[in-house]
Amino acid sequence: MLLIFPPVAKPCEPPAGIAKLAGALRAHGISCCVLDANLEGLLHLLQEPKTVSDTWSRRAIKNVAANIAALRDPRTYRSLDRYSRAVKDINRVLEVSDRDNGVALGLADYQHQNLSPLRSNDLIASAERFEKDPFYPWFKKRLPEMMGKTVFAQRRALHSRCSTRNRWVQAKGRKENLEEEDCGGDKPIPLIGFSLNYLSQALCTFAMIGFVRKEFPGMKIILGGGLVTSWMKRPGWKNPFAGLVDRLIAGPGEGPLLELLGVKDAKQKHPAPDYGSLPIHDYLAPGFILPYSGSSGCYWNKCSFCPETAEQNPYVPVPVDRAMDELNTLVAKTRPVLVHLLDNAVSPALMRALAEKPLEVPWYGFARIGKELMDLDYCMQLKRSGCVMLKLGLESGDQGVLDTMQKGIDLETASQVLKNLRRAGIAAYVYLLFGTPAETMTEARKTLEFVVKHREAITFLNLAIFNMPLCGKEAGEYETEEFYDGDLSLYTGFTHPRGWDRKLVRLFLDREFKRHNAVSLILKNEPPVFTSNHAAFFCHGRQEKC
Ligand code: SF4
Repeated sequence: MLLIFPPVAKPCEPPAGIAKLAGALRAHGISCCVLDANLEGLLHLLQEPKTVSDTWSRRAIKNVAANIAALRDPRTYRSLDRYSRAVKDINRVLEVSDRDNGVALGLADYQHQNLSPLRSNDLIASAERFEKDPFYPWFKKRLPEMMGKTVFAQRRALHSRCSTRNRWVQAKGRKENLEEEDCGGDKPIPLIGFSLNYLSQALCTFAMIGFVRKEFPGMKIILGGGLVTSWMKRPGWKNPFAGLVDRLIAGPGEGPLLELLGVKDAKQKHPAPDYGSLPIHDYLAPGFILPYSGSSGCYWNKCSFCPETAEQNPYVPVPVDRAMDELNTLVAKTRPVLVHLLDNAVSPALMRALAEKPLEVPWYGFARIGKELMDLDYCMQLKRSGCVMLKLGLESGDQGVLDTMQKGIDLETASQVLKNLRRAGIAAYVYLLFGTPAETMTEARKTLEFVVKHREAITFLNLAIFNMPLCGKEAGEYETEEFYDGDLSLYTGFTHPRGWDRKLVRLFLDREFKRHNAVSLILKNEPPVFTSNHAAFFCHGRQEKC
């Protein structure tokens, strides 16, 4: 089987989804190849010759190799200015890569002037006109090459299972012949799986699918990933891709894939990821960032605004002892500079295990603000264990808003947690959400007050405007309207019960919130494009101040 992670997503760490699938297949003796088409495709586009007329683009193109090297060099991360210049210049080269075909590209962006990833007809159109995709010149060569490799690997695996033939080959001292018919008619079924997680991947994923359908009509195409899971949880979902995609998979793909390949009782729910065949030293980062999920779903699973709650995704943790064993094995094997815990919220049990048995590598991830972090000694222990940054979903500085959205956070606790993290030297990446049904300008101003009061303890800020999940409970409680013109949109517009609509929220953010000196200073800390994925590399200076 060939597993593909398509463009475009931030190319700073390997894709955990296909690494996990590869781990599951290989653990059951099934051979597979993995392709990070995102990284390879972006690097290919960056190095292609381009015609430009403006000075910035000319300079960016001339320096692209040096800038890529700079993002792989730890010394660049000593200066946010130097780093930002390199990122913006690389982004510029992508921006001017495909102007003729109407695609605006970036390191985390793929926008087509006519086609939308929210419309199934547009995705099908992208599959039909795959030659127009900016990555086509790369994938028309690379996909056949990888498929050849995959079929070869499958055949080799079939031969190694064919013990009679193996003994015969060994006895004759002959080199194994990998002709298909040698397996007595037991022909491999070629399978190709695409992992689609972000909107910015959707159009290119379908272009690649269109290409495979045309060039390899016998190939079975499987499509899964976070975005596909969300589509399939939409109310009244009907598959619009029949005929193009053979099977859509919602949720973790390991079980369904193994079943498809004939494995009835998969050994475990969360197999260890296998990064062995991914180019772990080629990513745009100052060393290898090791992504690891200690769970799927969320152990809290109550926040009213959250897609995890709305989609009713079950919480499935990896047992803590196993997670620690896997992390230690992966760290020993891959020697990362940073571990990225991908959990929606790292469980208190896994966090305690990390504190008590340090990985001896810096790590970061999402944590819930709770009583555990009220203990300063525990925060100090976390810091000693390598915790450099915690991402915290605070959402609001108003207790009433937090309670209405069932966030389960008490503002006094949040205040103490932020102070403890600061004293311990752990950076806090705080996520805020504006425009929820319970908020008005008054509550939004309380959020501003909270941020100003804790300005010394908040290292990074992420500001978002509320989108109402289409399949959430709230969608039935408010007057709703079409939000985006597309049958695949995951959100619905709604009439705010107190008139605090998106336009007013945006004005408040732009004219008041972001203009406050305390907020604007925090926002300036954010690494462009890569944001939280690279933020941990910029924590050191601030930690010394703490
Ligand atoms: S804690 Fe985070 S992931 Fe969990 S339900 Fe709330 S917002 Fe969603």
